[in-house]
Amino acid sequence: MTAVQIAPGVWRLPTAPFDLVNSFLFEASDGSLALLDAGTKRAPRAVLAALDGLGKRREDVTHLVLSHAHADHAGGAEQVVDATGSAVLAHEREAVYLREGRMPRPDSTTRGGRLLARLPAGGFAKVDVAGTFVDGAVLPVGGGLTVVHTPGHTPGHCSFLHASTGVLVTGDALFNVRGLRYSFRSPCTDVRLSRSSAARLGELDFEVAAFTHGAHVGDGAQVAVRAFLAGRPS
Ligand SMILES: [Zn+2]
Repeated sequence: MTAVQIAPGVWRLPTAPFDLVNSFLFEASDGSLALLDAGTKRAPRAVLAALDGLGKRREDVTHLVLSHAHADHAGGAEQVVDATGSAVLAHEREAVYLREGRMPRPDSTTRGGRLLARLPAGGFAKVDVAGTFVDGAVLPVGGGLTVVHTPGHTPGHCSFLHASTGVLVTGDALFNVRGLRYSFRSPCTDVRLSRSSAARLGELDFEVAAFTHGAHVGDGAQVAVRAFLAGRPS
């Protein structure tokens, strides 16, 4: 799986077949790199191969930003940090889960959530979170990432806007798997909140909509996302 350039200095790194799981790479003007999400525990091999394929040095990856504490996003974090020496950043409400290597409890008002809640909590290798952030912060990494807190999937789930290129990474607030859709309900800590907070994405200005699950959308991305959120998929 090779990296897909989606804007100048921005690449999507598929780490599972059929674009089912993606990480992202952002390059700042000084050549430093920021990764967004680490994928599953099997993903680091693909992430590192993509860096090699792009001719990027591992030690130039200064930061690993995590959208939320689920095993398919943070599961590979420890290995990525080991290989690159990057510092992990996450929302202040997500850090506790990352540091303990556990996923937030799913919403017990959904059947799937109740089922998941009865299982042993799915975990992942503990992550050493170096710094936390809140909504609206502009992370000085990868050329600048604006934090858009979109809670509900998990308490500290975030989307990110790379304002200099107009790339929006939705995280799990929206999927592009067989079309735009909301995240699956069962892993959400608050299904209603996850859907209402996704509406924030429609208020942003962006050129490219990128998803941790599914291929990115270039042409017409903002129109398509706004139409989906308004309940009239284009
Ligand atoms: Zn998730």
